[in-house]
Amino acid sequence: MSRPDGSLVCDRCGLQGLAYGAPTRNYYLIDDLKVPLSRRIGVCMGCNTVGREIERLGSRGKAIDDWMQARRRLDRLQPGIPGIDLLLRLLFRHKIRRLERELLTQEARLNLFERRHDDACCLKCGSRDVAVLQEALPALAFTDDFLFYQGEETTSLFHPGCGGRFIYRGADFRLPYIYMERHFSPDGVLIHEQRI
Ligand SMILES: [Zn+2]
Ligand SMILES: [Zn+2]
Repeated sequence: MSRPDGSLVCDRCGLQGLAYGAPTRNYYLIDDLKVPLSRRIGVCMGCNTVGREIERLGSRGKAIDDWMQARRRLDRLQPGIPGIDLLLRLLFRHKIRRLERELLTQEARLNLFERRHDDACCLKCGSRDVAVLQEALPALAFTDDFLFYQGEETTSLFHPGCGGRFIYRGADFRLPYIYMERHFSPDGVLIHEQRI
């Protein structure tokens, strides 16, 4: 199994990197819970790289909505009537445990917003001196059916301090699917990674 990738190249200084890079599953480790961490494409001035290694903190409003949904799903199976609660717990033991864990995970995600008032950071070096690509790149919406994407697209990502603009170029190679799972501290610092 493999998939295509492409490079982002600064049209002024030539700084370049793989747009997507190796597929990884990323989580914050908070109180023994794995809270999903998403990345996005950007350029980091700290380690002078470009690629998909910039943290995406997401929106607090969305985190609140997700927490409320998890709460409602659990409440349906715990209406607060002792006899019924006991019966439902007997019938749906595994589902209730899964929903309880989901609720804890959503609470941990919300806590992340309480302690992180700063901007997203580079997941390689921790620098917050980053610029991120705001829009999705339609040309990158390729699937496994495409052998390669070989087009060229101008992006809206500028290279801070240099002034150049990043161009996406399809690559004439494919990347193997080797999944790594990576765990980060709530501050976005890599704790460890393992192949999965
Ligand atoms: Zn540049
Ligand atoms: Zn960096």
